[in-house]
Amino acid sequence: MTQQLLDHDFFYRGSAPTRVVAPHNREDAIQLIGQALREGCVVVARGGGMSYTGGYVLAEDSRPVVMVDLRQLSQIELSTLSNGWVVVDAGVTWQQLHEALQPQGLRAVFGGPLSGLRATVGGAISQNAAFWGSGLHGSAAESTLGLEVLLADGTVLRTGVLSRGDAGRSRYFGPDLTSLLVGDCGRFGVKLRIALAVEPLPAATDSASFSFEQPINLLESMQSIARRRLAIQQVGFDPLLANVRTRRSSFADDFRTLSKVLRGSGSTLKGLRSIAEISLAGRGFLGDAGFTQHVMCEGLDAHAVDSKLAQVRRIVSDLGGREIENTIPKVMMATPFTPLNGILGPNGERWVPVHGLFNVDRAQEGYRAYLETLESFEAEIAAAGITSATLFSAVGSTTTLMEPMFFWQDELEPLHFDTLEDKVIKRIPRNPPNPSARNQVAKLRQAIMEAWKPLGVGHFQVGRAYPFAASLDDVQQRVYQQLATTLDPHRQMNPGVLGL
Ligand SMILES: Cc1cc2nc3c(=O)[nH]c(=O)nc-3n(C[C@H](O)[C@H](O)[C@H](O)COP(=O)(O)OP(=O)(O)OC[C@H]3O[C@@H](n4cnc5c(N)ncnc54)[C@H](O)[C@@H]3O)c2cc1C
Repeated sequence: MTQQLLDHDFFYRGSAPTRVVAPHNREDAIQLIGQALREGCVVVARGGGMSYTGGYVLAEDSRPVVMVDLRQLSQIELSTLSNGWVVVDAGVTWQQLHEALQPQGLRAVFGGPLSGLRATVGGAISQNAAFWGSGLHGSAAESTLGLEVLLADGTVLRTGVLSRGDAGRSRYFGPDLTSLLVGDCGRFGVKLRIALAVEPLPAATDSASFSFEQPINLLESMQSIARRRLAIQQVGFDPLLANVRTRRSSFADDFRTLSKVLRGSGSTLKGLRSIAEISLAGRGFLGDAGFTQHVMCEGLDAHAVDSKLAQVRRIVSDLGGREIENTIPKVMMATPFTPLNGILGPNGERWVPVHGLFNVDRAQEGYRAYLETLESFEAEIAAAGITSATLFSAVGSTTTLMEPMFFWQDELEPLHFDTLEDKVIKRIPRNPPNPSARNQVAKLRQAIMEAWKPLGVGHFQVGRAYPFAASLDDVQQRVYQQLATTLDPHRQMNPGVLGL
């Protein structure tokens, strides 16, 4: 990792660590991290670095800070597949895992976040990520079966199916510690290995897209489909985001994706039909599409998928939606992990999201609260040239995810240049630093979080952005603080993340 990448993520800036270690394997990690801890250093784990909530960005500490770049921990252990899980090193990316499992006819039940080309399994489990598979199976935590975590005292804690190391054990034998350590952003230790549930690849898949005039109908449709467990993934966009996605991709990208649709379609005839449909639909079709919903279904055969989609269409039609071309879900399913050019807006703007997890009966209020907050910032937003767009998704059958995102003209960070494809770097404008717009975006995110608080909102990827510790009642605070003190009495493991 180059020196200039050490002190920031996609939104937060802090101070650079004193040194970086990049262990080659688990034994090396235990030795290097153990040594740093014995020297009294603070230890911060970094996976793909694809986050924007300050999870690995530290403020100055009086002690030396050691950043652990885990990307070389890259073993994938397939011998447990017959038990229904795979054991992966923390530094494996979701794309690498996908490539290792696909030839076996398998995939991870939680298949990774959209950033999976670079994001690691260790990072996603530490953030409790969601996307691929989440419509049906919830977030990463739901299918994480065991962990191996290096603690602040230098010992290795094994949980769940990894409780006896490679000898294995059934997941449950009394209370299971696994979920306590998922979503901890590295506060309770450094994950070295993770056991993830696997399942056969689906025999048949298909998708459909719809448009609604009102967000309330989109949210209702999404929730109704999720409750009936009809979709493996669902995603929705407000009109602005639909446009952003359409403008961002170039036709060259389309062509590459289309060949993947053909290869991934199983039958050449079906693939050709998909390509013809996408080409005919073109890219202008989303211009006035309203609030769009994209539903991806799977089944044991085409008949089962058709029957799910028939139910989906009935739900949508009862809610006044109309069917549109399913270009977006087709392209997404053909290429689950695309290059991360979405870290910028369509005209090279800086980008940062803020998200909330709502019980389904609060999602509409959540959207209203977001719009009211935007309205109260109208003058500032206009003055700073900030634009916004919103993504919606269903996480399991009980949670609606809402993710407003903001775009503004600003200088890019080294992490942006390290992540973007060269062809994008060549064409994007170089904007001067714009700290006032950036501060305004920070205030807006904060105001949205505040507006959502009374609705019982939750958050993934807590990092240093979302007020986890402050959301706890007194008893919960005491228990979490005691846990942190027991596991890490000298506050050496990513102190301050989670607010602990
Ligand atoms: C374009 C884009 C799309 C995205 N899409 C999604 C999405 O669909 N769903 C989603 O949930 N998120 C998404 N994200 C956010 C983020 O990329 C993911 O949550 C991802 O899982 C982070 O993984 P990483 O390896 O990059 O973690 P990092 O950013 O390196 O680290 C994240 C946190 O985990 C800690 N950590 C990392 N590795 C370990 C370890 N081995 N042990 C202990 N702690 C560790 C770090 O200290 C930090 O607190 C997206 C981000 C971008 C930029």
